[in-house]
Amino acid sequence: MSDGDVPTKKSKAEGSPPAKKKKGMALYTKILIGMAVGVGLGLLFGPNSFLLPQSGVTLTPAAQIVLEKGGETVAPWSGGVRMARIVEEADDGQWLKVQWTLTAPDLLKARKGKPDSAPASLTADGNPAQVGAVLKGWVKNDPGAATRYAPIGQTIVDWTEWIGLLFLAMIKMVVVPLVFLSLVVGVASLGDFRKLGRLGGRTIGYFLGTTLMALTIGVLLANIFQPGRVLSAEDKARMLASYSSGAGDKITSAANAPSFVDQLISIVPTNPVNALASGDMLQVIFFALMLGIALTFLKNNRAQLVVDVFDRLNEAVVMLVHMAMYIAPFGVAALLFKVVGSTGLSVLFALGYYALVVLLGLGLHVAITYGLTIRFGARLPVIKFLGAIKEALLVAFSTSSSSATLPVTKECCEDNLNVSPGVTSFVLPLGATVNMDGTALYQGVAAIFIAQIYLPESGPGALTIMDQVTIVGSATLASVGAAGVPGAGMITLALVLTAVGIPVEGIALILGVDRILDMFRTATNVAGDSTATAFMARLEGEDLRIMSDEEDAANPDAGFEGRLAAGPHPVPTDHE
Ligand code: ASP
Repeated sequence: MSDGDVPTKKSKAEGSPPAKKKKGMALYTKILIGMAVGVGLGLLFGPNSFLLPQSGVTLTPAAQIVLEKGGETVAPWSGGVRMARIVEEADDGQWLKVQWTLTAPDLLKARKGKPDSAPASLTADGNPAQVGAVLKGWVKNDPGAATRYAPIGQTIVDWTEWIGLLFLAMIKMVVVPLVFLSLVVGVASLGDFRKLGRLGGRTIGYFLGTTLMALTIGVLLANIFQPGRVLSAEDKARMLASYSSGAGDKITSAANAPSFVDQLISIVPTNPVNALASGDMLQVIFFALMLGIALTFLKNNRAQLVVDVFDRLNEAVVMLVHMAMYIAPFGVAALLFKVVGSTGLSVLFALGYYALVVLLGLGLHVAITYGLTIRFGARLPVIKFLGAIKEALLVAFSTSSSSATLPVTKECCEDNLNVSPGVTSFVLPLGATVNMDGTALYQGVAAIFIAQIYLPESGPGALTIMDQVTIVGSATLASVGAAGVPGAGMITLALVLTAVGIPVEGIALILGVDRILDMFRTATNVAGDSTATAFMARLEGEDLRIMSDEEDAANPDAGFEGRLAAGPHPVPTDHE
């Protein structure tokens, strides 16, 4: 495919008037400031803040509340993970007196087996036992059962969370129309399906190769550093107690993976509208490809109108991306405030070594696999390349969703790297759906970490070389199966663990740091998709070029700077 075969960016081809250099801060600087503010405020004023009074407690299913300190009478409490308020500490902090609001499940559980018991028998401190009543009781101050937090910090999280969610919703809104429209236009204007087939074959081959490379790095590092052997028995018990209920819900949803043939057939949407409505990305890609191909078979230029309409709509949808990016600095601040504020430092200490092994692996994969591909495949300078996709990396890191980041990644690749929309509209959506090197690498490390904790070091029951090969194979599939949404990699990790017979409840061990690691692996996933896009474009003979920050600031029609600067142009209509 030569440059002329695929649509190139019209705005850039036509060029824009050499605008005056835009003043003001660049968008990525604003995003970076937003991130720093979110992290700083999260540490200082989040639920785990050391500045604020830690007068709340999160109780896990391991918590047992009794009406009298050290007594036997169990309070009406349905278990699960719940928040309560600390009203008193006793015996050097060994016991906490907590106050909570009675729910219907609490009452039901307390009444189980004693149908005749009058509600009055369930009271504590003279409160009537009705739903909504405030009860008090004692719980042992054991980290596995009770984790303290600052209620003020939690309130700030609750009040500010909407800003991050609003930003996320704004960019997610664009994903399905963008993928659909740009792919139909891209394929229709391509015309030559051998080229499409070649691009598809190369892309899938490359995705597979880099995923295997990521897993090799992850599995090797986990064997060299043995993170599972350094977790103390105490920390292990604590993690299992604190997180087991959360893991349970996640694991069940990963069960019953469909067969390969079923999965393949399910890519064809029996109802394309449904595929678009539910955002099933592989189905949307398939339908857009087929529709684009079908358009090229229409005679007498009859497809032109449709392609033009889709193309214009696509341009409008791209504008929506830039409108969403307008609030990105606030959005990432709110997202990071929540993540940083809610991650306990004690968990980070206990799992720090494991987390470092994952981060080292991700760093090596980016430096070696992507570094070499960028340098020798795409023939671009590596650091400048990473600089050109910085907006996508920052959004991926803050949102932990490569699928939500897709519109930003697409803009980065097209505008900042000059990849044609014909290549980005195929490689990026496919990559955001199936190519997750960061996720695969993390799954390799996590599976071996959990195996090191549960399985003997040697002898019968120990992990064999064959098991490690199985981990590589199953994690490849599990990473393909993981959706580009937060935490998806941890859910499909259950498939990897089951494949080698590692206890699935071990996922509870890593839950505490998963959100933080998710940010890094998502950024890696997005870097991987962008690298693949640039490499594929180069193989198709495209002329790649990195746009500098100065050029971006000077050209309002490309890059992230000044895109909305010209203001709205009302569209005239025929009718009055
Ligand atoms: N959050 C990741 C992504 O969107 C997937 C995962 O590893 O959980 O790319």
